[in-house]
Amino acid sequence: MTEAAKPTNFLQQILQADLDSGKHVKIVTRFPPEPNGYLHIGHAKSICLNFGLAEALGGECNLRFDDTNPAKEEQQYIDAIKEDVRWLGYSWAGDVRYASSYFDTLFEWACQLIKQGDAYVCDLSSDEARAYRGTLKEPGKNSPYRERTAEENLALFEQMKNGDFDEGACVLRAKIDMSSGNINMRDPILYRIRKQSHHQTGDKWCIYPNYDFAHGQEDAIEGVTHSICTLEFADHRPLYEWLLEHLPVPSKPKQYEFGRLNLNYSVTSKRKLKQLVDEGYVDGWTDPRMPTIAGYRRRGYTPAALRKFCEMIGVTKSDGVVDVAMLEHAIRDDLDKNSPRAMCVLKPLKVILTNYPDDKTELLEAPGHPNHDDLPARQLPFGREVYIDQDDFREEANKKYKRLVLGKRVRLRSAYIIEADKAIKNDQGEIIAVEARIIEGTVGKNPEDGIKAKGVIQWVAAHDCAKFEVRLYDRLFTDAAPDSGDKNFLDSINPHSLTTVDCAVGEKGLLNAEVGTTYQFEREGYFCRDSQAPTLVFNRTIGLRDTWVDK
Ligand code: ATP
Ligand code: MG
Repeated sequence: MTEAAKPTNFLQQILQADLDSGKHVKIVTRFPPEPNGYLHIGHAKSICLNFGLAEALGGECNLRFDDTNPAKEEQQYIDAIKEDVRWLGYSWAGDVRYASSYFDTLFEWACQLIKQGDAYVCDLSSDEARAYRGTLKEPGKNSPYRERTAEENLALFEQMKNGDFDEGACVLRAKIDMSSGNINMRDPILYRIRKQSHHQTGDKWCIYPNYDFAHGQEDAIEGVTHSICTLEFADHRPLYEWLLEHLPVPSKPKQYEFGRLNLNYSVTSKRKLKQLVDEGYVDGWTDPRMPTIAGYRRRGYTPAALRKFCEMIGVTKSDGVVDVAMLEHAIRDDLDKNSPRAMCVLKPLKVILTNYPDDKTELLEAPGHPNHDDLPARQLPFGREVYIDQDDFREEANKKYKRLVLGKRVRLRSAYIIEADKAIKNDQGEIIAVEARIIEGTVGKNPEDGIKAKGVIQWVAAHDCAKFEVRLYDRLFTDAAPDSGDKNFLDSINPHSLTTVDCAVGEKGLLNAEVGTTYQFEREGYFCRDSQAPTLVFNRTIGLRDTWVDK
C-alpha cells in the first residue's frame, strides 16, 4: 500500500475527512477581504491557506469582497487586492464576488427574522446600548424596544431602509439572549443606518448589514463548505451558527479558526498601515518597506518566496509572532537559486589601467548565474578605466583585507587580475582615483609569474555602463514589537529605514532591467528595478546572508 501524501495542517485534515466521509463532494473555501486597504503579509497567509486548501483538495476558492462598510472602502483597494491575489499565483472560482451583491437577499432575510420574532428595531443610543449590554461578569438587560410586534418592526425596518431616520437613530438587532455568557449573543446588531454612497451599489442603500449578519449568509449563498477565519472570530461562531439555523439558507457552511500571523519588526493591521500612508511616513501602500504584498512585490520579493514562507510558518490554532528573519530567509533562498547575476558599484572609485591602451576596448563574458546555464551569459565591456567600490581599495592593509592594496593584486570578477601602483588624491587628501596595471593573459587564468590575486572584486567599465540610483532599505521599525501593549508604533519608526545612493554604476545590461526581475548584485545583495520611479532606480530587496567570502 502506498502512503498517501500526509495532510499538512489541521485544517487540511478536517477538510480531507469531510471528503472521505462523503459529507462534501467538493471543497469550497473563500478569501473575504474588506476593500479598506492593501493586503499585508497576514492576508498572504490567509490566501495561501484558503486557495492552497482548495488547490490541494481539488476544490474551489472564491474571492469575495466583504464590502459592508462603504465609509472605509474604495475601488482602488479592490483593484489592488485582485492584483495581489493573482500575483501570488492563485485564481478564484468564477467572477469576483461582492457581499454587496447579496444585499437584497440579506434584506429579505432580515425581514424573515423579524417575522419569526427573531429580530427587532432598537432605538437605544449607542451609549445606552452599551450600558444594557452588561459585561463579561454581568448579564445584560433587555432593551425596552425588544417586545415590539413583528408588524411594528417590519414597518420601522422599512422606514430605516427608506432613509426616514438619521444615522444612529436605530438599529436592527437579533433577538437572542441578553444573559448569554457570550456577549456576541446578547442581541447583536444586524443592520445599521449609514447614509453613505457605496462603491458597488451607489445610493441604493442607506442601511448596511454588519459583518456578523453578512458573513455566514454570504458563505451559505456561495455554497462555501469551510469558512476559515482568524481566532478572534471564534466567539462569533455561535452567532454564525444561530443565523444559519434561523434563516432559509441554501447550504450550511462551517466556520473554523486559525492563528493569525504576526511578524516582528512589523505591524499587520490595515488601520495602522493606512496611518503610515496617510501621514506620509512611507511612499504609499507599495513602499518597499511596507509589509504589504504590493510593497514586497515592489521590493523584489517573489510570489514563490511568499508562498514558501507561508508554508514554513504552518497553520496553528494559536496566535504567534514569527521572526521576520524567516521571511528574509525565504526570499534569499529563492533569489540565490534563481536570480541573474550582475555587477554594481555603489561607491564608485575610478581605476586607471595605465598599461591598457587608451583606444582599446574589449567584450568579456560572465555567466548569467553560476549554476544555471539557461540564464544568458552577460557581455561586459572592458576598457582603460573601470570603477571599483571605494571600500575595495586601501593604500595599506593587513592580510585579512583581500581586496586591492597598493603593490598588491586583486582579480576583477570575470576579467583581469590587476595590481595597484598609486593612489591619486585631491587637495583634501581624499583618494579620487587609483592607478593600476592589468596583468596580461589573466582573463580566466592565473598569472604566469605565479603571483596570484588574493581576492575578487566587482567592477564596471567607466566608458560603457549604467548609472542609477539605489535605495537601501532597512526594517521600518526599530522595536521588535512596535505595537504591543500600549506602545505607539509611530514611536519606533526607524529613521534609517531608507538610504538613497544616487550615483551607483552597474554593468550596462542593467539599463534594460525589467521590473519583476531581481538580480544579485555580486557582493552587495539582491536588487530589483523600481516599478514607479521615472528614472532608473534599483531597490535593495535584501542583503546577502553572509559577508562575502573570498574564493
Ligand atoms: P486587519 O486587521 O489588518 O484590518 P482584517 O482581518 O480586518 O485585517 P480582512 O480584509 O477582513 O482584514 O481580512 C481578510 C481575511 O484575511 C480574513 O479572513 C482575515 O481573517 C484574514 N487575515 C487578516 N489578517 C490576518 C493575519 N494577520 N493573519 C492571517 N490571516 C489574516
Ligand atoms: Mg476585517
